[in-house]
Amino acid sequence: MDKIVALSKRRGFIYPGSELYGGLANTYDYGPVGAELLRNIRNLWWDTFVHKRDDIVGIDASLISHQEIWKASGHTAGFADAMIDCKNCKFRIRADHLIENAIGKNVEGLSPAEMSSIIKENNIVCPNCSENKGDKWTQVRKFNLLFPVQMGIVEGDQGLAYLRGETAQGMFVNFKNVTDSTRVRLPFGIAQLGKSFRNEITPGNSVFRTLEFEQGEIEYFFDPKKTDWEKLFEEWKKAMWEFVTETLGVKKENLRWREHTDEERSFYSKRTEDLEYKFPFGFKELWGLAYRTDYDLSQHQKHSGKELTIVDPHTNEKILPHVIEPAVGINRLFLMVLADAYVEEEKRTVLKLDPKIAPYKIAVFPLLANKEELVKRARGVYEDLRQNYMVAWDDRGNIGKRYLYQDEIGTPYCVTIDFDTLEKDDSVTVRNRDTAQQERVKIADLKDYFKMKLV
Ligand SMILES: [Zn+2]
Repeated sequence: MDKIVALSKRRGFIYPGSELYGGLANTYDYGPVGAELLRNIRNLWWDTFVHKRDDIVGIDASLISHQEIWKASGHTAGFADAMIDCKNCKFRIRADHLIENAIGKNVEGLSPAEMSSIIKENNIVCPNCSENKGDKWTQVRKFNLLFPVQMGIVEGDQGLAYLRGETAQGMFVNFKNVTDSTRVRLPFGIAQLGKSFRNEITPGNSVFRTLEFEQGEIEYFFDPKKTDWEKLFEEWKKAMWEFVTETLGVKKENLRWREHTDEERSFYSKRTEDLEYKFPFGFKELWGLAYRTDYDLSQHQKHSGKELTIVDPHTNEKILPHVIEPAVGINRLFLMVLADAYVEEEKRTVLKLDPKIAPYKIAVFPLLANKEELVKRARGVYEDLRQNYMVAWDDRGNIGKRYLYQDEIGTPYCVTIDFDTLEKDDSVTVRNRDTAQQERVKIADLKDYFKMKLV
C-alpha cells in the first residue's frame, strides 16, 4: 500500500489535501493523471448503466439539501445518537443498544459520560469481535455524521441544511418529478454520480474512506407483484461483476461476494450483498447491493405528506414501488484499479491498467529533442493521433527515462520517431507497455494499428 501511495504522489495521481498548509486529515486532491483516470472510470460507469440501457435515466441533484430529507431518511436521527466504537474491529453501535443487549438496563436520558462508565464497570464485550473484552471501547460520543450548512444570515434551525450524506436520497425525493416528466415505466432505475459528504471519525486507507467521496448509485424501482426480486438481484450481481472484471479489467481472483449477516443488515432490507476487493489491507467493500423494499419511498411519503405512488396503466392500481440499490464508491474503484494494476518487475514499476481507463493511451517521442526534423515529424504524428486518443508528448531526457515514466502512469503504447523514420521507410517504433516488446509500424498504418489494439 505504501508503494502505491508513493507512486500516486510521485506521478500525480493523488496528493494529500491542503498539503501546502500542512494537510487536512482524510482529504485528497487528484492530480493530472489521477483526474483523467477518475474521469474515465466515471464515464464508463455512466455509459454502461445510463447510456447503454433504456430502463435507466440519470439525474444530478443538489449537494446542499433540505434538513427534512435527512430526518426522513433517518440520517440525522440515527447519526446524532450516542455512539461508541470498538477500537479493535471498528464496529460502531448505539451505546444504549449495547448496554441494553448486554445487561438489560434501560439507559434512556443518561449522558454519554454516564453510559461510558456503565460500559466500563460491566466489562461489556464487543458483539462483533472477541478481542475487545470491554477494555477496547472509545468514549461514548454524540455526533452528527452529516456536514451542516448554514444558509443565509439566519442563525439557528431555520437556515440549517446539510451537504448530502449519500446520493440515493436525491433519487427518492425526485421520484415523482422523474415519473411525471419522463416516459419511464416500471421496472426502471434512476442513476446518479456525484459527491457525498460524511463527517467520519474513522480514518481510511488513502482514498478508501474520506470525508468527501464520490458515489455511483442506482435506485432500481419495480412492482414486487410483477417482478421477481430474487431474479432481479441476481441480474444486478452479474452487471456489477461484469463492470469490474470486463470494463475495468480487474482480476477475478481479487474479488468476492459477501452476504450481510442479519445483525449488520438494515431492518428494512431483505437482502444485502457486498462485492469486495482484496485491497493491500484486506478484502473490503467495493460495491453494495441491497433490496430495500419500499422503505425509502414510504418514509418520504410519511414525512412530506405527499403521495409517491404511481398508477399501473393496465389495472389502475396504485403502486408504491420497491427498490434494489447498487451503490459503489467511485474513489474505491479508483484505488482498486491502481492496486490491481501495480506490478513491480526487475527493472521497472508498471501500472498495467486496462487501456480503456489509462489516462493516456499513447505517448509520442522524438528520439532527440534537438533535431528539428525529428521533432517536426513526431509533432505531426502526435497531432494526428490526438484526433482520436488521449496522447502524451515527451521530449525530455533519454528514451529509457521516458519509458519508465510512461510505464508508471500506465500508458499502453509509446511511439518513437527516429532517424530510420526520416531516412528509410517512414516507420516508427511502437513499444508495448506490458511486454516491453517493440515493433516497427508504418506511419500510414498507425491509425489502423491502434484501432485494433485500443478497443
Ligand atoms: Zn470489536
